[in-house]
Amino acid sequence: MKTAKPSPDASALHSHAHGGAHDHAHSHDGAQGATLESALAMAEAYCRERGEKLTPIRRKVLELLLASGRATKAYSLLDEMRQIHPGSAPPTVYRALDFLLSAGLIHRIESINAFAVCHDLTQCQHGILVVCQQCGNVTELHEPKLRQALVTQIEAAGYRLAGDGIELKGLCAQCQESQANQANKAAQPGAAAAPEAAQSSSVS
Ligand SMILES: [Zn+2]
Ligand SMILES: [Zn+2]
Repeated sequence: MKTAKPSPDASALHSHAHGGAHDHAHSHDGAQGATLESALAMAEAYCRERGEKLTPIRRKVLELLLASGRATKAYSLLDEMRQIHPGSAPPTVYRALDFLLSAGLIHRIESINAFAVCHDLTQCQHGILVVCQQCGNVTELHEPKLRQALVTQIEAAGYRLAGDGIELKGLCAQCQESQANQANKAAQPGAAAAPEAAQSSSVS
C-alpha cells in the first residue's frame, strides 16, 4: 500500500477557487484573484513536472472552470471562449478538455455531462465527488480510506471501476433551500394534496 505523499505545509496547495473556503480573511476579490492565479501557476508547474505544457488555450479553459467553481458544460465553455477569442472552434476546446482530463486537473462529471476542476490540483489521488444535479455544484470528499474501502468492496464483488471518478448524485444545500421555498409557495393552505408523490424516481 502506498501512502499519500506527506505534505506538512500543504496549506497553499489546498487553496482553490472555491469561494470562502479558507481562513484568508482578506478582501474577497483580491483573495479570489490571487487564489485563481496561484491555482493556475500550480497547474502550470504540475504540467511542467510531467513534461507537458499548459498551453494558453488549456490554461484558459482551466481558468474558466476555476472561476466558475462548479461543473460546466462543454458548450458553455466554448461560448465563454468565443467571447474572448471569437474564432474558437469546438475541437480546440474539446482537445483542451481532454488534456486537462488526462492530466487529472479536471473531472468529467458523467451524471450531468459537464466538467469541473479537481479540488486538489497537485494530488493525483481523486476523492469522491458529490454532484448537485440541479446546479452543478461539485464537492470532492478527500477521504482516501473511505475511497479505498469502497474500491476494495467493488473489486471483491468482481468489478473494476470504469474510471477514476466515483460520483454521487445529490442536491446541494442551496438547491434544497430553493426547492423548499418553491414547495412552500406551491403548498396552498387549503390544498390537501401530498406534494411529494410527483417527482420521485427518474431512471436514466
Ligand atoms: Zn480530483
Ligand atoms: Zn445545487
